[in-house]
Amino acid sequence: MNYPASKLPHISTTIFTVMSQLAADFKAVNLSQGFPDFDGPSLLLEGVGKYIAQGLNQYAPMAGIPALREQIALKVQHLYANPVSPDEVTITSGATEALFNAISAVVRQGDEVIIFDPAYDSYEPAITLNGGKAVRLNLLPPTFKIDWQQLKDSINAKTRLIIINTPHNPTGTVLDKHDLNQLAELVRDTNILIVSDEVYEHIIFDGLAHASIHRHPELYARSFVISSFGKTYHTTGWKIGYCVAPPALTQEFRKIHQYVTFTTSTPMQYALVDVMRDNPQHVEQLPAFYQTKRDEFSQLMQETRFKLLPSSGTYFQLADYTGLSQLNDVAFCRWLTTDIGVAAIPVSVFYENPPADMKLIRFCFAKNSMTLKHGTARLRSLNI
Ligand code: PMP
Ligand code: GLN
Repeated sequence: MNYPASKLPHISTTIFTVMSQLAADFKAVNLSQGFPDFDGPSLLLEGVGKYIAQGLNQYAPMAGIPALREQIALKVQHLYANPVSPDEVTITSGATEALFNAISAVVRQGDEVIIFDPAYDSYEPAITLNGGKAVRLNLLPPTFKIDWQQLKDSINAKTRLIIINTPHNPTGTVLDKHDLNQLAELVRDTNILIVSDEVYEHIIFDGLAHASIHRHPELYARSFVISSFGKTYHTTGWKIGYCVAPPALTQEFRKIHQYVTFTTSTPMQYALVDVMRDNPQHVEQLPAFYQTKRDEFSQLMQETRFKLLPSSGTYFQLADYTGLSQLNDVAFCRWLTTDIGVAAIPVSVFYENPPADMKLIRFCFAKNSMTLKHGTARLRSLNI
């Protein structure tokens, strides 16, 4: 027999898996894939064990347990003043599932979806699998700002969806309320929908306010707003996220969710209720917690020849290696891992058409001090 042609012929194994595997093979300090090397609050960790022992081990309701959807609705009301109901909240197996569901719920054959490069790598395959076409607009270093005129020029009758991401992975840049107003102006009087990837909503620095779609009622009415407990509670391996969307969009979202995963791990959902309700300080302290790590990493990097770009949010830091190597960023990251013992992520892989001569790599600073010191000590060996 002949196997069918690939539906994703241009896709290979995700860079996060490639680099973490290479880091493990070469015992490198892994500052590549984004995950903390420390645990979340003990209330959360112990809660899972407690609820497993209590026998909460069967299917949760399809949309997620009501108490967790309630806590999320309360959070959105309090933090962003958006009066959403728990019926607008769906718990998913990671933000990755939520992104896939939202895109699948609305993208049809021939639709165009505008995404901004460097783009998180799961967007484009989900668009393609649904018969859509990703229209990729470049954000350019060093500011990576959206070119609103270019966006305006790219919108046409086929545009179904625009995907935004703030705080932004991999650049660490953030949108502000003026950006949301610009976006609102461009989609007003159209049927264009928005997917807003806000998985780093609680990791934002220097006193900046997170420009959530939830703060913009006009945009919320046409949006899927997606977040991840993995980022907020240092539990990326649990794969629990959620989507908040107006009722009509939630209805379509759940039609996909119920046949992609049906529902999400039960004991973890119960434990998340407790930590959201009883430990609100965790979220309040997260910006300062990660800002300290950003600053510590940045301080340590001053002793290397890398030039850092500003990081206003996420747990990522871009670094320019111009002058350190002639290699392209993919080759440089491989070499850095195999020969220097530090793994990082090349930025060009998140672009369809990377800017010429861009020499940027991404480090993850969601690490203990020891890990950051160990990694940067190895990077200092490039000084000679
Ligand atoms: N979007 C962005 C921008 C991310 O960085 C991540 C983290 N991997 C995700 C979505 C997916 O999150 P999750 O691990 O909850 O699926
Ligand atoms: N979001 C994480 C990162 O950007 C990785 C997620 C993944 O490995 N799929 O590094």
